[in-house]
Amino acid sequence: MQNHTDCILDLESQVPHVKFKKWQDDPHMKHCFTTKLGGVSEGEWASLNLGFNRGDGEGNVLENYKRVCHMLEVPFESLILSRQIHETHIEEVTLKDVGNGIHSPNKWESVDGIYTGERGLTLVTHYADCVPLFFYASKYGMIGMAHAGWRGTVGGIGKKMIEIWHNKHHIPLEEIQVGIGPSIGPCCFEVGEEVARVFIEKFGHVNFITKNIRNEKYYIDLWACNEKILVDAGIKQEQIAKAEMCTCCQSDIFYSHRKTQGKRGTLGAFMYLK
Ligand SMILES: [Zn+2]
Repeated sequence: MQNHTDCILDLESQVPHVKFKKWQDDPHMKHCFTTKLGGVSEGEWASLNLGFNRGDGEGNVLENYKRVCHMLEVPFESLILSRQIHETHIEEVTLKDVGNGIHSPNKWESVDGIYTGERGLTLVTHYADCVPLFFYASKYGMIGMAHAGWRGTVGGIGKKMIEIWHNKHHIPLEEIQVGIGPSIGPCCFEVGEEVARVFIEKFGHVNFITKNIRNEKYYIDLWACNEKILVDAGIKQEQIAKAEMCTCCQSDIFYSHRKTQGKRGTLGAFMYLK
C-alpha cells in the first residue's frame, strides 16, 4: 500500500489499483484507476490490458475486465466504454448504452467524456499517460469522467464537464468534487516548441510550463493545467484531489505510452453509482 496525499495505491489487492481517499468509503459510489498488474495478458500487454485495440487477444482483455469488475464488486454486464479520440465531446449515458464497446460494438465516433445520473452503470475510460479526470456530485447522484491528453487539456474538457453539470443539470459548483488521476507528470512530459506554444497561448507564461535551458525542451505540468481550468470554471481547490503519480516514472506499475514508445496495454478508470 502506497499512501499519497490524496490517493492510495493498493498493491495488495488481487487487482492492484489507485483510489482517491475522499471517495474510498463512499456508500453510494465506487471508483478506481487500474494499474498494469493483476491481469492475464502477456508480453508488452502484461498484464491487465483493458484495450481491445492494442493487438492483445480479446479473451485476455475480457478476462481482465472481469477481474476489475470482481474486485470493484460491479456487474460485468454493466460496463459502458467511451470512444476517445483526443477531442472534447461529452456524452450523457443511460441504461440504453450498457455494453457499449464491450458487449456490443462501440457505436460512438468521438466520446472523450461520459457521465450519468443513473444507478447501476459502470463507466469506463482509458489511459496510458493522458490525464483521467473524475467528477462526482454525491448529493445529485451524478458521476462522470473525462480523458484529458494534451489536446483535451488545451481544449478544456474539464471545464466542459463542469458547464454541462452546472448549466444543464443545475448542480451547484460547490457540490462537484473532482479527482485528477495518475498520468504522465511534469517530470516526464517533455514537448517541443510547437506544442509548448499551444500551451503558452492557452495558459500564458505560468510556472507550470517550464523551459529547460540545457536541452531547449519544455516541460508541462498537465495536472496543474487541468487544475487551473477547473478553478477558472468555478471549482475550488479544496474540491480537487490530485493523485500526483507519474505513469512514466512508475512504468513498472502503469502503462506509459511515452516510456514504451507505444508498446503497451491500456489502463482503465472506472466509476459506478450504487
Ligand atoms: Zn515522471
